Amino acid sequence: MCFFDQHRFACGDWKWGHFRQHCAKEYRIGETCGMKLIMQTVPVAQKCRLCEKIDTKERRKQAEVERVHRWGRDGNKFRASIEKSMEAIKGLEYEIQELSYERMRRLQGIGNLSAHA
Ligand SMILES: [Zn+2]
Repeated sequence: MCFFDQHRFACGDWKWGHFRQHCAKEYRIGETCGMKLIMQTVPVAQKCRLCEKIDTKERRKQAEVERVHRWGRDGNKFRASIEKSMEAIKGLEYEIQELSYERMRRLQGIGNLSAHA
């Protein structure tokens, strides 16, 4: 079991950081035994890359939703714009869902790794 830093993001997700220390089983320079243990947790002020992406898309979706509400008050005048916005919202929702799946898959991957340690 070799020791690594753990980078913990503001969103609660984490990733492995720098390699810190060999264990007794592994003495070759530059090699690690493949089992990872946490040496120290390094807090990261921002969210992880995936959560940042999800947030950005959520904000864009929210802006579209607000536009649709605003246009809706003017009846049929903005029908074409509203339809375009609705399409954009659907697209963004799909992308957000895909990113959430990716995040879950990655969390499971890391979970399996640490279960060996
Ligand atoms: Zn995250």
